[in-house]
Amino acid sequence: MRYDFHTHTVFSDGELIPSELVRRAVLLEHAALAITDHGDASNYRELIEKITLAREELERYWDIRVIVGIELTHIPPKSIPKMARRCKDFGAEIVVVHGETVVEPVEEGTNYYASISEDVDILAHPGLIDRESAGNIKENSIFLEITSRKGHSLTNGHVMNVARDYNIPVLINTDAHSPTDLIDVDFARKVGLGCGMSKRELENVLYHYPQDLIKRL
Ligand SMILES: [Zn+2]
Ligand SMILES: [Zn+2]
Repeated sequence: MRYDFHTHTVFSDGELIPSELVRRAVLLEHAALAITDHGDASNYRELIEKITLAREELERYWDIRVIVGIELTHIPPKSIPKMARRCKDFGAEIVVVHGETVVEPVEEGTNYYASISEDVDILAHPGLIDRESAGNIKENSIFLEITSRKGHSLTNGHVMNVARDYNIPVLINTDAHSPTDLIDVDFARKVGLGCGMSKRELENVLYHYPQDLIKRL
C-alpha cells in the first residue's frame, strides 16, 4: 500500500490528466493520491474546481482516495498564510507549499512563512530548512517532505535530521510530473533508507503518518 501527497497534472506542468495519473497510481497500489498542481492567486479556484470534479468521478469507479490539493509555488512568501487560507476556504483538502529547494530560485522566507500558517499541511522539498522554521512546523502540525524527485532530493538527509530532532512527521512524496514518476512502496522504502531512516521510522513514514494526515482532512 502506498500514499503520495504531491503530484502534478496537465493543469500545471505535469504531463498527464488526472484520470491517467490516478490509473497509474491504482496500478502501483496507492491507497491515496493527492493532486497538487502549482497554484497562485490567479488559478487556485480553477485548480480546486477541476480536481474536485475529477475526484468525484474517479472515486466512484476505482478503489483509491483522491485528495484535492494545491501546491502554492513561488508566491511571495508573506502572502503564503493568506493564500493557504483562501485555498482551504475554496475547498482544498490539503495545501502544500513549494519549499526552498537548493536547485531553484525559491524566495528566502518561503519556508518560514509556510511554517507559521495553520492552513499549510505539507512543506515540500524544504532544502536546508532552518531550526526556527522547524520549531514552527512542529507547533502547527505541518508535515515535512522527503522526496524522490531529482535535485530536490539532494537535501533529504538534512530534512530527515531536522525532522528527527523536532519530532516532525515526514512523508515520502514523488512530486510526479511524468508518467514514470510515481513509485511503489518498495522504492519508497529505498528512498527512506537512503536518507538514514531506521526500519521503525520507515513504518511510521510509509503508513502511520499518511493515515494521520488523511484522518484530519
Ligand atoms: Zn512542476
Ligand atoms: Zn511539486
